[in-house]
Amino acid sequence: MPKSFYHTASFLTSVARLSQLSEDVGAEVAFIGRSNSGKSSAINALTQQKGLARTSKTPGRTQLINYFKLDDDRSLVDLPGYGYAKVPAKVKQMWEQLIDDYLRSRDSLKGLVLIMDCRHPWQHFDQQILDWAGIANLPVHILLTKSDKLKFGARKAVLHEISNKIKALAGDVKVQLFSATHHEGIDELCERLDEWFAIPQKNQ
Ligand code: GDP
Repeated sequence: MPKSFYHTASFLTSVARLSQLSEDVGAEVAFIGRSNSGKSSAINALTQQKGLARTSKTPGRTQLINYFKLDDDRSLVDLPGYGYAKVPAKVKQMWEQLIDDYLRSRDSLKGLVLIMDCRHPWQHFDQQILDWAGIANLPVHILLTKSDKLKFGARKAVLHEISNKIKALAGDVKVQLFSATHHEGIDELCERLDEWFAIPQKNQ
């Protein structure tokens, strides 16, 4: 499938509770990351739509799960991240419950794209997500975003470091460098999404 398939994404709906989700059929891939990790920019770069993931930033909607429809059977899902440590314990608890339930219970969820700023990768938040994904037996694709902010050597080093860390994990976890501003890494991301969405590769 050409990457233009992902350009067709359009905002479908926002939900605050799992009970509001659509019927659990078809295939969806979810994006998650700490606030400011570059998640919205990654979704916008993938879909070639500047404002698509902005909805998740509207005050009051930050705790919502946003759905972007690709076609009748496939969606991208923008999951809320709770940001830095300074959030009320109650909000954190609600977020944990929502995300953990979603990752465990959603059959149509085929994979999780975990966004990490390449300059501060693998924080407590990321470890928690990886733990939950492991328990839910869910494949994960790590995007080391803002790679344009690092020089060639440092980029190679962080990719190497994170590749080594994921070797210790039991599940299907991969990692790549990504830059939304330089449009780098989009093809590699599309390949992983195609795999999860069961889209035949080119030349087939
Ligand atoms: P989110 O909170 O995870 O959705 O993060 P955003 O996508 O809003 O990005 C947070 C900040 O990082 C913004 O100022 C973006 O312009 C910047 N940013 C995101 N991706 C990149 C990138 O690939 N390169 C650079 N240089 N900056 C980026």
